[in-house]
Amino acid sequence: MALNPLTVFCRNMQCPARGKTNAGNIGVHSLKARRYKCAVCQKTFTQTAGTPFYRLRHSAELVTKVITLLAHGCPPQAIVAAFALDERTVASWRDRAGQHCQAVQEHLVEVPRDLGQVQMDEIRVKQQGHIGWMALALMVSTRLWLGGAVGLSRDANLITRLVEKVRACASALCLGLLFCTDGLKTYISAIGRVFREAVPSGQTGRPRLQAWKNIFIAQSVKQYEHGRVVGIDRRIIAGQAADIEAMLEGSQGGGVINTAFIERLNATFRQCLSSLVRRGRGLARQSRTLEMGMYLVGTIYNFCCAHQSLRLPGLIGGHKWLERTPAMAAAISDHRWSVSELLSYHVAPAPWQPPKRRGRVSRATKQLLARWCQ
Ligand SMILES: [Zn+2]
Repeated sequence: MALNPLTVFCRNMQCPARGKTNAGNIGVHSLKARRYKCAVCQKTFTQTAGTPFYRLRHSAELVTKVITLLAHGCPPQAIVAAFALDERTVASWRDRAGQHCQAVQEHLVEVPRDLGQVQMDEIRVKQQGHIGWMALALMVSTRLWLGGAVGLSRDANLITRLVEKVRACASALCLGLLFCTDGLKTYISAIGRVFREAVPSGQTGRPRLQAWKNIFIAQSVKQYEHGRVVGIDRRIIAGQAADIEAMLEGSQGGGVINTAFIERLNATFRQCLSSLVRRGRGLARQSRTLEMGMYLVGTIYNFCCAHQSLRLPGLIGGHKWLERTPAMAAAISDHRWSVSELLSYHVAPAPWQPPKRRGRVSRATKQLLARWCQ
């Protein structure tokens, strides 16, 4: 593949031009070594810097293959046997890819948007010798996975971390935000605590916190008899029935209060994660492995998997379908990504800020700010 300096940015955190693409500061340093050079800070860096492929001895194709298999639930032992790799190599690739996918998810999905209806649920994950919990959240209209939290018990801490992930994706200016959950009470207090905004009062001390307007909460509680669902109790916890009905109509998630969409996502995660959680040493290590696996499965689901229910009728003759991934439905990407594309995506750092100094800002700093921080 040819090197394209226009799509690359400087990775040096001290460089005023960091994270800027198409700004004319990046040139090709070496075609053979596949390195770029930044004209502002004079640093060179390789094409794979900032991706899981950085400084690996194995080819990117092999790493991509292994990651794809892991994310689809293939047992690591099978990969070790099939590709003659060391078990630790496979584990290290999984962690590198998981970390990268977390960065991609935080960079592209955790951006304020009008979420409409959000469904949240928890799954039990059997780990060696104990039970772990994973809580997940889904935006219904686009089927976008918003984030998740991993913990040892289904407590307030786990649910709060999940709700904080949802808040990172939500816009305070939205028309309405409807949460559909199961009967777990922890959600109600966690949503109340997290969805608050500080009101500046101009005085010293802790500012008053004001709850977001237009937050609706509904529960869909299943009643079981001998392990079978015999009825569903639909409850409204916050908001008016008419408002919630309008929100349900608008989010293409069935006209009634339900948790069907998050349950479908849970099944996907459970299936793909089953083989990832078997091995590990300490508890903390196992939780980290589970979290890495969650980001791997979740981002591949968001960016690489077309969804039957998201497809649109095509323009040609009306019989061709336009396949869409959740990321496409949420207008984050314009095409279905390959796993290789996901793994080689470069997450841009935030724009450079000059180091804080006392006194007047020098003219040189002002010029740098004008050139790179607009
Ligand atoms: Zn630079």
